[in-house]
Amino acid sequence: MSTDKSTNQVSLLPHCVPCKSQCCRYSSPILDKTERDYIVDTTGNDYFVVVETPEGSYFVIGRKPDGSLRDLETEPCSFLTPAGACSIQHIKPLDCRAYPLRAVPQVNGTLSWHIHRACPAVGFLSEKFLEAADHYARLSASRFPPHLYENWLKRFSSWTLEKDAVLREREEEISDLRWWHAFFADGFESFFPGQQDEQESLQIATALGALAELRNNSNVLELAGRRAWLSHASARSDTCTVTAYFGNPSPAENDAHGYKKGGRPPSICADYRLLPFDGEMFELVLGHELCIGLWRDEQEDRRVLQEVKRVLRDTGTFVLSLPNLEYCVREELCDKTLIVSGKTWGISNYFDPESRRWIQHRTRKDQDGNSVTKASNCRLYTWPELSSLLRAAGFKTAAVYGGLDGSKLSIRSQKMVVLARA
Ligand code: SF4
Ligand code: SF4
Repeated sequence: MSTDKSTNQVSLLPHCVPCKSQCCRYSSPILDKTERDYIVDTTGNDYFVVVETPEGSYFVIGRKPDGSLRDLETEPCSFLTPAGACSIQHIKPLDCRAYPLRAVPQVNGTLSWHIHRACPAVGFLSEKFLEAADHYARLSASRFPPHLYENWLKRFSSWTLEKDAVLREREEEISDLRWWHAFFADGFESFFPGQQDEQESLQIATALGALAELRNNSNVLELAGRRAWLSHASARSDTCTVTAYFGNPSPAENDAHGYKKGGRPPSICADYRLLPFDGEMFELVLGHELCIGLWRDEQEDRRVLQEVKRVLRDTGTFVLSLPNLEYCVREELCDKTLIVSGKTWGISNYFDPESRRWIQHRTRKDQDGNSVTKASNCRLYTWPELSSLLRAAGFKTAAVYGGLDGSKLSIRSQKMVVLARA
């Protein structure tokens, strides 16, 4: 139900593909006669039924292509193709264009703003998208008196009436619907679970030490992803002092102090774009996947790299371990099932060639049939792209490998490991 088919900033297509167009598989938009007639005249298909109420009438997509009535709660919209695309994309109803945003007319003449938080794209809505959605939502709502609109909501779009759909401070809340509220919000740890494998941590730390020519008693900073390999390994050895941070830019949790060797690593959170070090310098900074890429845009990734440069000694080394784009596209671009702690997650992946972002949806179904979807949206870099980003952040030299073992990067390498010097 994106506002546009192209994958620019007013499109949700990169999320709608892995989502498999869930919002088109239940409920119906509201249409007035003008909009319904236009679609029927343009397509030659009349899948609409009129709903009469004491306050007036409106149309819903209530008929199947064979002419029989559609069950709006369980059967997909008749304009949805078997491949999951909207067959009337460029003339689709206003309400579909505004989704997941909705304006509800109130009897006092004002509008109440609502958002469907079940849509996995919520949290990734660009300002351009919200601008367009605002326009379409206002247009759609303005066609109907409040009680008639409410009749449609109650019967065919009940999510709008749920408590958590209401946006109280619309402008503030919408501008604050940044990706991390969807991604790092509660359940992040359970979304990326997994016990720290001690053996694996030690092996990785040893390989990393050799690659970066790490000397004893070095001061090391680890920008951890879901695992803090080096910190975990160093907690069992006397070689270096390691400070580890886990990426979570929630201000409430942004009181990180790091942890030093000898203690079990807690999950400590920080905003990598603004590292909390004033004067403390490091011989080695290790950046894991998730320390760049998940931010909103390349400027923010660059800010992370600039921060690393700021806290790195002149003779220091920065090692960055990221997913290898070529490998991901070749091997990971498929649907998968993952069982974690007895729970089954369905995983859908999509690579948007326009934004170069990897969109992943993980959906867990509860026993009672309810499901929860967590979405991530990560910029994947090629080596030339990353190399220029590093140069722009002030790094002088950089080399690339296919792993921490120093192997050559190829399309078969799962990781792209970059070694940069201050
Ligand atoms: S629920 Fe959201 S992500 Fe899914 S198809 Fe609808 S608009 Fe797209
Ligand atoms: S008209 Fe298109 S966008 Fe709207 S519900 Fe149907 S398939 Fe989805």
